[in-house]
Amino acid sequence: MKINSSSGTFCHFQDKVSKLLLRHRSILDSLSKHVESSTRINRAVSKTVTSCGCISIKAEKQHIPPDTSLEECHKYLNSHIKGSLCENCRETLEEEIGNNLFYLAALCHLLDIELEEIVGKEYERINALGLFNLS
Ligand SMILES: [Zn+2]
Repeated sequence: MKINSSSGTFCHFQDKVSKLLLRHRSILDSLSKHVESSTRINRAVSKTVTSCGCISIKAEKQHIPPDTSLEECHKYLNSHIKGSLCENCRETLEEEIGNNLFYLAALCHLLDIELEEIVGKEYERINALGLFNLS
């Protein structure tokens, strides 16, 4: 099975990013900006909880009944998220995730790696593994 709905999107995105890379042409700049953008995603999620309050986090130990099959585990696992994103928080998170993707594509470009190819390979890998061996 192949990914078909967005085929070529990552390729076009990476190409565009490569043309916009001026300030962060160095691999060191792109590495640090990618890490920073990941941190900004985490910060945005935190602010969604602590400033806006549209979602909250209620974490506790996951309780899975004994003898539950791996296929049935999802019925008992909780995301620990209560509520749903408001429009403002969703927009902020989408921007931060997009920024993170920008620097991921920049890293791929600088290392001569095709992001589209990685997505396809990873899709095939998780499709082949199924529920097993994912952590
Ligand atoms: Zn919100």
